[in-house]
Amino acid sequence: MTNNQPAVLTIAGLDPSGGAGVIADIRTFIEFDCFPTAALTSLTFQNTQAVSGAVNQTAATVRAQVKAILQDIHVVAAKTGMLPTREVVTEVARLVRETKLTAPVVDPVMNSTSGFELMSDDAFLALKNELLPVALVVTPNVPEAERLAGFRIHNTADMRRAAQSIRQLGVGAVLIKGGHLNDQKGSAEAIDILDNDGDVTVFRSEWIDVAGVRGTGCMLSAAIAASLARGKSLEDAVGLAKECVTAAIRRAAP
Ligand code: PLP
Repeated sequence: MTNNQPAVLTIAGLDPSGGAGVIADIRTFIEFDCFPTAALTSLTFQNTQAVSGAVNQTAATVRAQVKAILQDIHVVAAKTGMLPTREVVTEVARLVRETKLTAPVVDPVMNSTSGFELMSDDAFLALKNELLPVALVVTPNVPEAERLAGFRIHNTADMRRAAQSIRQLGVGAVLIKGGHLNDQKGSAEAIDILDNDGDVTVFRSEWIDVAGVRGTGCMLSAAIAASLARGKSLEDAVGLAKECVTAAIRRAAP
């Protein structure tokens, strides 16, 4: 760590194949010239095609990792990714409340693209009730936002309503990623909506139709945390993070 490299922490799962999870987060932190630190919540077994299993960490091992990092590294910003169990979610919320751990960017990872459940149902409830009230911003895609808000999202007006409703859970800001919205498929742009304490910003980016890009959610939330660590406002951090993800998708396009 150097003086001009702010330390950023990811609390997330390991995808040993490097497409998603902490490896994608660390790559992103480095891209933003931040010093990467990581606490593992789960060791998953996967490759570019599918997730075949996972061995989860316990509350105690997640706590021990985070406490050791915080003891002598000044973590400026943090993000969470895969939080597989209720005990791990509860522990992360407790760490934010009880230690110097900064309010995190929460990527509410629920399932892999291939359909593997990365978070149990009771972990989802703990995320909603315990982690969101201490989070800085939550970054759901449309299916995740539907589950958090409790209603279906068909268009950008629904996205705005869902963001407002998710804010009622106690999180100050909500970024809903519209890439999964049916009416955006085949259209020229992907629309994301940031509701920051009632101030709504609409982000439009080029829709690039490419299958099999993995870890974009991890990358986006990591880039937001890294940009916040670099002193950007939330609105600017989301804009820069979106540019980073769009560039990665463009690189992956055939
Ligand atoms: N594995 C881990 C450890 C993750 O954190 C995530 C997403 O956050 C995934 C897999 C899912 O990635 P994908 O959506 O690319 O399947």
